[in-house]
Amino acid sequence: MSDKSQPAKAEPAPIAGPAKGKSKSHKMPESVADGGMADAERDILAELEKALGEHIALLLRWNRKLALPDSPVDPDADDDDHDCDFGAWYALNRHNRLIDQPAMHALATTHQQLHDSAKRLLSAREVDGEVDSAEFDMMALRAESFFAQLRRVERAFRTARSDVDPLTGTYNRQTMMGDLNAERERAIRTEVPTAIALVDLDHFKSVNDTYGHQAGDMVLQTVAGILQSHVRPFDKVYRYGGEEFLICLPNADMKQCARVLERLRRVIEASPVTVSDDTILPVTASIGAAPMTKSRTTEQIIEKADKALYAAKEGGRNRVRVWRNPDGKTPATAAKTGKDAT
Ligand code: GH3
Ligand code: MG
Ligand code: MG
Repeated sequence: MSDKSQPAKAEPAPIAGPAKGKSKSHKMPESVADGGMADAERDILAELEKALGEHIALLLRWNRKLALPDSPVDPDADDDDHDCDFGAWYALNRHNRLIDQPAMHALATTHQQLHDSAKRLLSAREVDGEVDSAEFDMMALRAESFFAQLRRVERAFRTARSDVDPLTGTYNRQTMMGDLNAERERAIRTEVPTAIALVDLDHFKSVNDTYGHQAGDMVLQTVAGILQSHVRPFDKVYRYGGEEFLICLPNADMKQCARVLERLRRVIEASPVTVSDDTILPVTASIGAAPMTKSRTTEQIIEKADKALYAAKEGGRNRVRVWRNPDGKTPATAAKTGKDAT
């Protein structure tokens, strides 16, 4: 969406959330800290993360209502189809100098349009018993756009805070464990499956040894670009180590996770890097993944993903291994994708 679609000083966007006090989980929006810049940025980042989680949950709820309108409602679940704080938070804080910028206003507009689409769809479903396919596609597009814009805004704030790795543009480890712990808690609370994947370039040392460190850096930048542009908008890519990246995949069971990762593996394999006029280097990566579970700490989940990665290396590299351990099986017997997929 064009930034021009949102005039800088427009009236506050209508609040998409429920009336005050209606929802048990709904709280009054909070003002961004007016103390130090770091506090304000931290508050904004926390709000963006919260908005992401809320809208993943809302999308699931909307899709369920559209597909299964007669399914019984969970008596413990909140009965508000638009239970989100983002609209109210934006309206309260929109003149804060960190928020009063085109990208944030565009995000708020997309957010409002997303809720409007969902309202129209849900109401037509209830009144006419029908789902308009064009409107449904529109809602899906707006959701995707909202998540992508949200990530861009978040990255801009994080770049300013040096949470981004300067070589690759991925998030660095500064806030990784905090982010992953929060994702794990959300996955447990919402029962939305979430996974962690480790991506390690194959035989990368020989790129440095043969073509020099600068060529190695170009390969790293290329792969990082591929990872960031081919994951889903709400997935997050971190530089975990030298030539190793960690991806957090919310809202993905291990089957979906394997599909996303296999797509990444193929794109990397199909994207040789031109490091000089006469040198084009083939690049491949091995990938290991593990689900976030209640019974394991974030560190233990990363360890399982690392074990799956090790199995991918052992299996011949350039492949995806997913950790599954329902009955004590090792990654060698876990789900396989990649060249030797069965
Ligand atoms: P494997 O297939 O088993 O993963 O082998 P590998 O050669 O990729 O793994 P190894 O761990 O032996 O080597 C990783 C190399 O990554 C060694 C290190 O010099 C290089 N490296 C780490 N960080 C950077 C960086 O920022 N830039 C460049 N150019 N190289 C880096
Ligand atoms: Mg490595
Ligand atoms: Mg490697």
